[in-house]
Amino acid sequence: MLLEHLKRAADERAAQALTRRRRIAHSACAPHQSVGALDATPTPLLTFCSNDYLGLANHASIAHALAEGAHRYGAGSGASHLVSGHSLAHAQLEEGLARWLAPYIPQAQALYFCTGYMANLAVLTALGTAQATLFCEALNHASLIDGARLAKADVQRYPHGDTQALDALLRASQCELKLIVTDSVFSMDGDIAPLADLLALAERHDAWIVVDDAHGFGTLGEQGRGVLEHLGLRSERLIYIGTLGKAAGVAGAFVAAHATIVEHLVNTARPYIYTTAAPPAVAHALLTSLQIIAGEEGRSRRAHLAALIAQLRSGLAALAERAGWTLGASDTAIQPLIVGDNATALALSAALEAEGIRVGAIRPPTVPAGTARLRITLSASHTAEDVTRLLDALARALPQVSAPRAAHKEAA
Ligand SMILES: *Cc1c(COP(=O)(O)O)cnc(C)c1O
Repeated sequence: MLLEHLKRAADERAAQALTRRRRIAHSACAPHQSVGALDATPTPLLTFCSNDYLGLANHASIAHALAEGAHRYGAGSGASHLVSGHSLAHAQLEEGLARWLAPYIPQAQALYFCTGYMANLAVLTALGTAQATLFCEALNHASLIDGARLAKADVQRYPHGDTQALDALLRASQCELKLIVTDSVFSMDGDIAPLADLLALAERHDAWIVVDDAHGFGTLGEQGRGVLEHLGLRSERLIYIGTLGKAAGVAGAFVAAHATIVEHLVNTARPYIYTTAAPPAVAHALLTSLQIIAGEEGRSRRAHLAALIAQLRSGLAALAERAGWTLGASDTAIQPLIVGDNATALALSAALEAEGIRVGAIRPPTVPAGTARLRITLSASHTAEDVTRLLDALARALPQVSAPRAAHKEAA
C-alpha cells in the first residue's frame, strides 16, 4: 500500500518533469569536475552550479588545515556542545566570527552550528515562541520556512521585497515580540533584500530582524564579512546567520547576535543542544578559511568574481532577449535565467550537458510554478574562457530548445 502510494507520486512527478536525481562527483568541487555513475568512467564537466563562490572548497591551505585539525583533535567531537563536544577549535572560530560581526552588531557573540539548516531551525524555534510573531519574506529559503513551521509563533508572510506590505502588517500587529525573517541574497534569484529599509521598519515598529546571509557571507563587502558590511548596517536588532559551506568552502553555519540572544540559544535551541558537535577539525579548517576571505587573496578572488558576473550578465541579457526569457535582476554570483516551464528548463540543461557543461535546472517546489530556470552560479575559480564557453553553448542550444518544446509536450 505504501509502496503503491509512493509509486503513484513518483509517476506524477515524472509526468510533470519534476523527478530529481543525484549525480556522483568523482573529483573535488571545482569548475572542471568529473561526474558519472558509481562504477563507470566519469565525464569531465564544466560546472556552473556549486555555491563555492570563492573557489575555496578545494583550496590547498584549507584542506591542509582540515588534515592538521584531524591530527590534533581526531575525527569526531564525541558529544554535543553542552556535554563534552565543545572544543578549543569551536571556541576560537566563534570568537573570530564574533569579532568580524561586532562592527555591525553591538555586543555580538557567535554560535557555530553543524549546518545552516539547523541554525535557522534553532533561531526561529528558540525566538519564535507563542508570544512572538514571525514576519516572513515570501521567497525565504526552505530552512527558514521549516523553522517558521516548527515555531509556536504566529506566522505572517509578506510578498517578495514589498516593504510597504510589511509595514502594514507590522502596524496592524498587537504582538510585542516581532521578528522580521528574510534571506539577504535570495538563493534562487540572486537579488538582495532591502535590509536598510527593513531595519528602519524594525526600528519604527520595535521589531527584530533575522537575516540569513548564506549567499552573502564571504562574497559581499570589502572584507567579505557579508551583507551587513556591504550595506553598512549596524543595529542590535540584527540576528545574523552566516553559512560556512558555501563561500567559506567548508561546512556549518553560525549565528551572530547580541550576547543575550546567543546565551538564550545555547540554553534553549533544540537543534543546537540535541546534536553531536561538528568535528573540531572542521572548525579548525574554517579558521584558515576566514583568514583567506579577509586577506588579500579573498579580496582578489571577489574582484575576479565581480568581473565574471559582469561578463556573464552582458552575454545573458542579449540571449534572454532573443529567446523571450527573463534574466533575473541580480548583481551577485547567482544568475537565474528564467525560462518558465519545467520541460524547457530540463531541455536547456540537457543541451548544455551534451556540450560538457553542467547547469542545474531548478523547478517547483524550489521555485514558484511557471518560473523554472537555469540557476547559473559563478565561482572565483572560473575563468573568463569558462564563461565564454557557457554563453556560446547557450546560444547554440537556444534554437533546439525553443522548437522541440512542443514536441516534448506531445511525447509526454
Ligand atoms: C544553503 C542555505 C541554507 C542552509 O545552509 P546549509 O549549511 O547548507 O545547511 C540556509 N539558507 C539559505 C538561504 C541557503 O541558501
